[in-house]
Amino acid sequence: MAAEKALALVVRATDWSESSRICTLWTREFGKIRGLAKGGRRLKSRFEVALDLLTTCSIVLLRKSSGGLDLLTEAQVVERFPRLRTDLTALYAGYYIAELLADWTEDYDPHPPLFDEAVAALRELGAPPGSTGLRLARFELVLLRELGYQPVLEACAVCGAEVDGSRLAFSVALGGVVCVACQPGQRDRRPLSAATWQALRVLGESGDAWQRDWPPAVRGELRQLLGQYVTYLMGRRPRLLPYLGS
Ligand SMILES: [Zn+2]
Repeated sequence: MAAEKALALVVRATDWSESSRICTLWTREFGKIRGLAKGGRRLKSRFEVALDLLTTCSIVLLRKSSGGLDLLTEAQVVERFPRLRTDLTALYAGYYIAELLADWTEDYDPHPPLFDEAVAALRELGAPPGSTGLRLARFELVLLRELGYQPVLEACAVCGAEVDGSRLAFSVALGGVVCVACQPGQRDRRPLSAATWQALRVLGESGDAWQRDWPPAVRGELRQLLGQYVTYLMGRRPRLLPYLGS
């Protein structure tokens, strides 16, 4: 077994025995991995603080050849996100990000842009105050794109007709907008306002559009729509979803 290095975000950490900890890590190099840190709970262990939930760390791991847990041999803190300790809304949003990465991605399926987006989101959640829902929406749109579920927004998901934002609906089953002519046949549709349609397009394209002053109605609709879409795709409602504001 060769030792490999990676940059990792801790998305789940469970104490396993008196001295060990099992962690789910989302790494830039390998995607999701599950590792055992022996001695990970020992006082003053070099693991102790690095393997806390929502910490970025550099790790050294020994990969298991088939099944089982990888073995973590080193972990050092690279970055923490102090605002998460003082802003409860931002903390819940951070837990939500961790939940989606831990439960909705495959082992060893790397997506470096998704890793970078998660770390950027954790850094920016809660600043400025009130922007957490929008920052989260940006993260979700990058996640959806990376996992192959980018919403279809430019054309009707049923007939392919180009749409201009007026009188649209969104279907979670189709993963996109439905034009007015096709709406009667789409039972899972929900209305989609032109302003929120525009926000979805802009937030997906631009990394800093979440900082704009989007109206509360748009923010609320975005939160609802993305929550429903993620719930549909995951096959269950994320545990943290009810704790997210708009
Ligand atoms: Zn149509």
